[in-house]
Formats: sequence, structure tokens, C-alpha cells
Amino acid sequence: MLPVVAIVGRPNVGKSTLFNALTRTRDALVADLPGVTRDRQYGISRVGERPLVLVDTGGLVSGAEGIDYLTAHQVHQAVEESTLVLFVVSARDGLTAADEEVAEVLRQKGVPVLLVANKTDGLDADVAVADFASLGLGEAAQVAAAHRRGVEKLMGRVDEFLPPAEPEEPEEDEPDRRRLAIVGRPNVGKSTLVNRLLGEERVMAFDMPGTTRDTITVQWNKNGLEYDLIDTAGVRRRAKVHDAVEKFSVIKALQAIERAHVVILVLDAREGLTDQDMTLLSHVLEQGRGLVIAVNKWDGLEDDHRKQVLDELDRKLDFVPWARRVRISALHGTGMDILLRAVNDAWESATRELPTSALTRVLIKAFEAHQPPMKQGRTARLRFAHMGGKMPPRIVVHGNRVDTVPVSYRRYLENTFIKAFKLSGTPVIIDFRSGD
Ligand code: GDP
Ligand code: GDP
Repeated sequence: MLPVVAIVGRPNVGKSTLFNALTRTRDALVADLPGVTRDRQYGISRVGERPLVLVDTGGLVSGAEGIDYLTAHQVHQAVEESTLVLFVVSARDGLTAADEEVAEVLRQKGVPVLLVANKTDGLDADVAVADFASLGLGEAAQVAAAHRRGVEKLMGRVDEFLPPAEPEEPEEDEPDRRRLAIVGRPNVGKSTLVNRLLGEERVMAFDMPGTTRDTITVQWNKNGLEYDLIDTAGVRRRAKVHDAVEKFSVIKALQAIERAHVVILVLDAREGLTDQDMTLLSHVLEQGRGLVIAVNKWDGLEDDHRKQVLDELDRKLDFVPWARRVRISALHGTGMDILLRAVNDAWESATRELPTSALTRVLIKAFEAHQPPMKQGRTARLRFAHMGGKMPPRIVVHGNRVDTVPVSYRRYLENTFIKAFKLSGTPVIIDFRSGD
């Protein structure tokens, strides 16, 4: 499982700014989504190549201050689940009583803490942090999150706190087992779907003693193919036994997404596409995973209602034309074959070898049909393409003046490649390389 790092501190010290600096997406597709990447509290960040889940606890309880903030259930939960807490203070304001309160709570919890002095811009470094020595938390990492200063060095220090990374799985490019994660909001029908897919086997998998990990991976064979099914619903099922309060853990969902090759995002047709669904979707896209959208609870809906749901999906999901939407009823077992076919198509699309000659042919044809717009009297020329990686397919496009190519043209090429190679269920990433 990915390590979890929580950003904690009193209001206004710059927690969200730091969170954004550490998670800012490089994926233009996601960055463009209105309302999705704003107000996010969970994200994937990286120490070198190594992923971790970052939580902005300030965003979890906006409005709450002081001790109210720290005792809020979600903050409590995030801190408890963390491998490390980044305790942010403001060098500009110096040590405050509220900082001391936060420090005391963290001490009681006994989690590892790394002190981060933010807003060091324009201040004398040593003076800036001297104030915080009395917290007894060691030397503060100095950053100016708003200017992204000190951020890389901070991540270097974060690395020292993390357990050693799990060894790389061999042949990551073409794994034999298809890793499939089932994610979605509470009550959309994830458990029902997992039960439906696995049938009796599931019972055995879950009754095994010693399965205390939070997300469960079930090995599953179907039609001669081997899957690792990463089940976040099982978490809830077991948690229910101990605890009547339902916990929706975005952390678990993120961990599952990160591990998967293909994600089934389960929606409840009766409720349409909610903000929480969109947030989960944005995480899948950001990680470049394969995606199949399962529109569950399709049974018993009136025709009018069905049409309304499909219209909504068309409207809100037009930026992921390649993601198949499969209407299912996990309860009655309808749509299961189509769902599984969509999953396999996504996996095969994401791992397919796309030959250089065919890629170049498609590129040249696309370029001749529609040239990129001129920018400051210059226009790009595109010459050839080859594969730069799989899962998701990465297509390296060589040409001249490629820095002038706008996002809209990148989209056009992505969609052209997807159509030409009949890819389904996977995004395509284009890397432009300039010969000049
Ligand atoms: P949060 O409440 O802890 O999440 O704090 P925010 O991230 O919302 O930041 C609070 C204020 O501090 C905002 O006005 C930020 O622009 C400002 N801020 C954040 N980081 C820096 C920094 O590195 N330097 C300066 N001067 N201001 C910062
Ligand atoms: P989870 O929280 O996502 O794991 O959701 P569950 O699998 O526990 O399902 C939540 C509720 O929705 C339960 O009452 C299920 O019986 C119901 N449900 C799940 N799938 C369907 C479906 O396809 N159709 C209908 N009508 N109800 C469903």
C-alpha cells in the first residue's frame, strides 16, 4: 500500500498551497476539468519515482479552527492513517499558541512528525525558524510553498521517514495478471458487484484469517484469464462489523487506483454523476489508468429516467470519449459479460504494441488533414512517431517547433490515434520532441 502523508497545521499557514505545490497535476486533461481539481483534499505526490498519498487536512474541515479542527473526525482519521505528518507553521507569523496546541495533539498521537516552516520568502532563514525550536520537533524544513521554493528538498526529507519501497514487479510492461480495481462512492453497489463477479470464491477469500489489510486483493480466474481484483468494498464490509459509522476512505480508493491497471468506476444510475464521482474519475485519469464506467442499478428505472441519465453522462463525460460506459445491474447480474469485455479491451489497449510505421502513417495523415495553427508566425511540422511506453500508451511525436502546438491539437492527435488503432478504455499520452 502507498504511504500516506498528512499536512497538518492551524489555518492560514499555507497547507493548501503546499498541497497544491506537491500534487499539481501535469495532466492537462485533468487540470482543465472545471471544479474537479480545485477543492481536492487527497492527491498522489511523488518522492522521486515513488508515489505516496498526500492529504490536506485543512481542506477536510474548512471553517473549523483551533482544537475543533484537530478533533474533527476526518482529520483524526487522516492522521491515524498516516505514515508521516507534515506539521506546517508560518515563519512569517512565528510561533503561536495554536501551533503549540497542534504540536501537543500530534505528540499525544505519537505519529512521526516533520516540522515545515512555510512563508520563509523574504525572511532571514535562521531567524525565521529559530522561534520553532521550542516545539522540540527538530530542525524545520524551510519552504515558501507559494513560490515552490524548498519543496524538493522537503521531499528529500520526507523520503527518510518512509519505509523502504516494495520491490518493483517484474515485467511491468506486460504483466500476466490483470490488476483490476473496483472503486466508487459508498452504496453504489461495489460489494454487490464484487460478489456477482466472484460468486462463491469471494466467501473463501474473505473468511480467511489474517486478512487484516485494508484493501483486499483477490486472485480470480475467469475465461482463462487471471486477474488480481483489488476490492475496496471489502474494507467497508468488515469495518461494519466493528463500527456502525460508515467510513468512505478516499485514501483506500487512491491506493487501489495506483495499484490497478484498469479501474471500474461504479456509479449509481439513480443518483447520476456526483462531484465525488468526478473527483474519483479525475484521480483515475491523473494516474493514467485504464477506465471503465459501470452505470449500476440500471434495473427498474423508468425509460425517461434512463434517457436523462444517459444524457447527463454524455454531457459530463465528453472529455473521456474513450471510456466505455456499461449499464449493469449488479443485483440481477445483467451486463456482466459486457463489463468484463470492456475491462479486457481496456487492458489490451493499454498494453498493445503500436508499430512505429503505423503510428507514423497515422500521424502524417492527421497532420496533412489538419495542421496545427500558426503561433507568432511559426507553425509546427510533425514528422514521425513511435511508442515511448505502455500502460498507458505513450506516443512520442517528433517534429519541429512542437512547442507551438496548442492543447486542442494535442487532443485532436490523441483522439486520432485512439480511433485509428481502435483503442478503448485507456488514455493516450503524447510527448512532443523537437528536432530544432
Ligand atoms: P491553509 O489555511 O493552511 O490551507 O493556508 P492556505 O494555503 O490557504 O494559505 C493561506 C495564505 O498564505 C494564502 O493567502 C497564501 O497565498 C499564503 N501563502 C501560502 N504559502 C505562502 C508562502 O510561501 N509565502 C507567502 N508569503 N504566503 C504564502
Ligand atoms: P457499496 O457500498 O458500494 O459496496 O454498495 P453495496 O454493494 O453494499 O450496495 C448498496 C445497496 O445497493 C444495497 O442495498 C444493494 O442491494 C443495492 N444494490 C447494489 N446493486 C444494485 C443494483 O444493481 N440494483 C439495485 N436495484 N440495487 C442494487
